[in-house]
Amino acid sequence: PLAEVKTLRQLYEAGDLRAPAKSEYKPAFLDKVSLHLGDITKLQVDAIVNAANSGLQGGGGVDGSIHRAAGPGLKAELREKYVDTAKAGSVPCPTGEVRISTGHELPSKYVIHAVGPSLAWNLRGPPAEDTKLATLLRDPTSASEGKIPAALLASCYQNSLEVMVENKLKHIAFPCISTGIYGYPIVEATEIALHTIRTFLSADDHADKVERVIFVLFDKGPDSERDIATYRKLLPHFFPQE
Ligand code: ADP
Repeated sequence: PLAEVKTLRQLYEAGDLRAPAKSEYKPAFLDKVSLHLGDITKLQVDAIVNAANSGLQGGGGVDGSIHRAAGPGLKAELREKYVDTAKAGSVPCPTGEVRISTGHELPSKYVIHAVGPSLAWNLRGPPAEDTKLATLLRDPTSASEGKIPAALLASCYQNSLEVMVENKLKHIAFPCISTGIYGYPIVEATEIALHTIRTFLSADDHADKVERVIFVLFDKGPDSERDIATYRKLLPHFFPQE
């Protein structure tokens, strides 16, 4: 339940997060943002985000876990709403876009399915050199649908937050979209996630409409330690202590 998910303020107070040396961001939203280690399918919140694929019929990683925990009703709902209605030649959910469904047997009320960019095709084989990677992340021709991967990843977070507010949902939990099977580098992906959310909360009356944004890091994945270290390092930069 949400009461057990600690806020950034509580993590700072417990010494689990360290204040940054310096940050250009003002302290804000410390009671609205959480870092949580665990399984996103166990969270009892208004909405969890799924790192889905364009077909919206399930897949590996967190997508598979969400579909298993939600039961077959999830796949059926997605098929009826988005697969059967997709126009000829178009996919149920293009990269960078999101689609909402109910949570079925999950403890969360809704699932927002977000399709992140895949770099997996380009990164097959040995890890790319930094220069190659930097080019890749900004190269619209190397990624899906002629768009820049970094912009597509930012869209996943932005669109999820917009759909949350449109549906009057108060909490949202995100996995690290695209950083598993899709191969997006963790530091760059985390910067995009944190920047997009910080900017969204800062705009207009958004902070009034959002009670909690939770970053969920899977504690049993092959890259868990890397992911946790990255969020611990970058979160205090975007959300510094008061
Ligand atoms: P993508 O294809 O978008 O890269 P993955 O599912 O392969 O999606 O990985 C995205 C992230 O989700 C990874 O950080 C992975 O460790 C994490 N993950 C996998 N299972 C879960 C889960 N049950 N709860 C939260 N995060 C999960």
